[in-house]
Amino acid sequence: MTALVDEVTDLLQQLIRNACVNDGTPESGQEQRSVDLLASYLEGSGLDIERYEPVAGRGSLIARIEGSDPQAPSLMLMGHTDVVPVNPDGWKRDPFGGELVDGEVWGRGAIDMLNETASMAVAFRKLADEGFTPKGTLIYLGVADEEALGTYGAEWLTEHELDAVRADYILTESGGFQMPLPSRSGPKMPVMVGEKGAYWCKIRVNGTPGHGSMPLRTDNALVKAAEVVRRIAEYQPETQIHDVWRRFVEGADLPEEMARMLLDPQAVRSFSQSVEDIGLARMVHACTHTTFAPTILHGGVKTNVIPDSVELQVDIRTLPGQRAEDVRAQLAEALGELFGAVEIEGLADDEASASSMDTPLWETLNRATRQLVPGASTIPFMIVGATDARFFRRKGMTAYGAGLFSDRISFADFSSMFHGNNERIDQESLRLSTEFWGLVAKDLLG
Ligand SMILES: [Zn+2]
Repeated sequence: MTALVDEVTDLLQQLIRNACVNDGTPESGQEQRSVDLLASYLEGSGLDIERYEPVAGRGSLIARIEGSDPQAPSLMLMGHTDVVPVNPDGWKRDPFGGELVDGEVWGRGAIDMLNETASMAVAFRKLADEGFTPKGTLIYLGVADEEALGTYGAEWLTEHELDAVRADYILTESGGFQMPLPSRSGPKMPVMVGEKGAYWCKIRVNGTPGHGSMPLRTDNALVKAAEVVRRIAEYQPETQIHDVWRRFVEGADLPEEMARMLLDPQAVRSFSQSVEDIGLARMVHACTHTTFAPTILHGGVKTNVIPDSVELQVDIRTLPGQRAEDVRAQLAEALGELFGAVEIEGLADDEASASSMDTPLWETLNRATRQLVPGASTIPFMIVGATDARFFRRKGMTAYGAGLFSDRISFADFSSMFHGNNERIDQESLRLSTEFWGLVAKDLLG
């Protein structure tokens, strides 16, 4: 193993051990620990480092290598330092031990996304040490609070310190993994050019209270809610073959039959219901549909009381161009005559976002990918969850999710490790991504 791999492995292990667990409360996360770590790692290479801490403990760090030409495009490498909570019972290793086992680093955040936060920092420091003098400015941002709503991280920075985080191009999580596609011409590495929106809502189902000993023909809110849940779970919204999906399928260079199928709304649906690879099935489905996941149900007050009110929460993810009224129309379709019996309250409404793929950065990513994985090329894809990229796209910046991973971890394992058990990353992927960021910076900023 080279010194570079040791360096990124070590930094990743320390980030994992810092355990900046974000449970959504303002006092969780405590990313300041990793800000201190990153600052001490980056210091000493003559870099300009700034810290931002909107509330105690919720810190972010920005380091810059100033460009020589103010007109030249600038690039920001952004990695979040927080992670989601774990249930250690489901893990084979200590989730915060950062153990290196058989060439893999284990721990919460190894995939999402401390691996990239570490490899970006190592690439950045290496460029600084080499005396890299770019035309356009290169920025590194280690950002807090991605795993909640970005309130103390990307949202705060883009609202209050826009000049500090403004760049023409932003790279963040997460692309460059090998998808199980039968491409006719070499591996196709996804670059995330957009992400779905989130419409979270509360659905209140009302009934009439009564005595639990005489349930016949009562107006039981819980029984009604069960039917509401069933209808939402079984609802099949229209399949949408949108632009990013079309360009993904075209770029993947698939056997003709398969490409035709993935561009045909009817066939896409039956593909995702029948294909064996469950990770692929879920991904294809989520990329081409609005999704509805009932996630929370609260109701009832006492065993012997017929409940008069039940509250259901649904996690709905929208496609580009969809708005709250489109989602409500879909819910009306799903619930049929029950729609009139419920009240819907929106909890969060974050529209989908996308950046153009016709940019110099796109070409740069393609060249760097090809150089490190001969025969590979990049294809556009869409993240079905949410990342900090959305805050920057809303301010008019081009933001992609990128990276470069080895083929050691299968796509099914890769996608199940986000917020899942036994999160781990192989050192070959750490090497690839560290070299990738370096090549990208040199190619774009020159
Ligand atoms: Zn993440």
